[in-house]
Amino acid sequence: MKKIMIANRGEIALRIMRSAKEMGIQTVALYSEADRLSPHVQYADEAVCIGPPPSNQSYLLGDKIIKVAKELKVDGIHPGYGFLSENADFAEAAEKAGIAFIGPRSHAIRIMGSKLAAKEAVKKYDIPMVPGTDKAILDAKEAIAIAKKIGFPILIKASAGGGGKGMRVVEKEEELEEQMQRAVSEATSAFGDGSVFIEKYISSPRHIEIQVLADTHGNVVHLFERECSIQRRHQKVVEEAPSVVLTPEVRQAMGQSAVNVAKACDYVGAGTVEFLIDDQLNYYFLEMNTRLQVEHPVSELISGVDLVKQQILVARGEKLAFTQEDLSINGHAIELRVYAEDPANNFLPSVGTLSTYQVPQGPGVRVDDGYAEGMDIPIYYDPMIAKLVTYGKDRQEAITRMVRAIDDYKINGVETTLPFGAFVMRHEAFISGNIDTHFVKDHFSAESLISENEAEAHVAGLLAVHLLKKGKTAKSQKSVGQAVSKWKQNRLRN
Ligand code: ADP
Repeated sequence: MKKIMIANRGEIALRIMRSAKEMGIQTVALYSEADRLSPHVQYADEAVCIGPPPSNQSYLLGDKIIKVAKELKVDGIHPGYGFLSENADFAEAAEKAGIAFIGPRSHAIRIMGSKLAAKEAVKKYDIPMVPGTDKAILDAKEAIAIAKKIGFPILIKASAGGGGKGMRVVEKEEELEEQMQRAVSEATSAFGDGSVFIEKYISSPRHIEIQVLADTHGNVVHLFERECSIQRRHQKVVEEAPSVVLTPEVRQAMGQSAVNVAKACDYVGAGTVEFLIDDQLNYYFLEMNTRLQVEHPVSELISGVDLVKQQILVARGEKLAFTQEDLSINGHAIELRVYAEDPANNFLPSVGTLSTYQVPQGPGVRVDDGYAEGMDIPIYYDPMIAKLVTYGKDRQEAITRMVRAIDDYKINGVETTLPFGAFVMRHEAFISGNIDTHFVKDHFSAESLISENEAEAHVAGLLAVHLLKKGKTAKSQKSVGQAVSKWKQNRLRN
């Protein structure tokens, strides 16, 4: 493989190109008219404009992308995440055109793209499942009978769902019929497939997923877990590895289950098997994501494995160079997704221009981003600006570094999830590891950000008065800044 095309944009396109470059592979970037000046376009050896800004006229045009790939004689296409990454037809079309799809084969994408087909496929491996139905539910009567059997609350889910969409919690029988109708119409319009099914609603679960890697020679390993319980709208914002709750035995069992899920669909490449886990450490299979996951850096940092390089090696037909026994967890990593969203306003997207954009640096800090100062956050795509990842010898050090890195990250022009990240890192529940998927609902409100700011302003005010009294007027502003950050650090330690 001498030349690969990245059918994606932003941070993940850059991330992939960096590994390709280290392997001596030429890169081709694609871009829409909205991304003409993006760093991923400048970084690539070649770049091709694929169409106007809306993704259905650019990044989702599979046929056009394959045509361009053929013209430019690329050997492989890396789809990143989102866009065409889980589109089985695209994977198949690439292979038919003689271009390696850097990801699993199309049949694995097809099976795992349907939550119901996935459950069916893994049945013979004895993998724990959330109690519920394994077939699409057709009418409300059937749904009520099933819901009564498993007990309320239940969750109606779209089989083709993704990105936290198409899910409805139903607390009581009376609400079921209406909620089911809504779920079906939501699933039909969002995914073109109205099949829904029912799962028991696990009341306070953690979301823990396992990274797997498989080659074309039948070898499958796992690279341990990622804890992704801090979510808003059923979507992840903070992830970490390893999880504080897993015992070596549960880790081993979940790892083996994940490897079996991969085996169930003849998986090839890097994939993620998602589980929910309850407070008794019972775990339940949710779904498999057949792509490189947004939060893959935390696994890279604790395992020392470059997942993109591995994807490329596997796509070249090479055998994995290590076995499960060769892999171990070293240190701790945390990722904060820095979204252009306003945490004080229900995490609504906050588009605009990055009038200031300075990324943190220094020991244990990795920033995967796709922006530069002065750029606009386009309205057409996911509003993620960057992934801020910190690594430490232990969790305490990773948290301390995250607090420092958030403080060092300077973004003006849009609201971001950075203050939310700071809130999480200082929260007693997070620090003690006592979290579940309801963290945001249970602990966070717009007021908590205001009170953080107020507390900071209050302390700054007190310190300023104190320093003025001591006659340190000239340097007072800088001293106050330093003193406030010291106060913040102490608060974290306490
Ligand atoms: P999607 O494919 O839309 O991301 P998932 O099945 O992966 O959907 O679930 C996303 C999130 O929704 C989970 O991390 C969890 O917070 C919540 N969730 C999903 N299924 C359940 C369930 N049965 N009980 C409680 N929460 C659930």
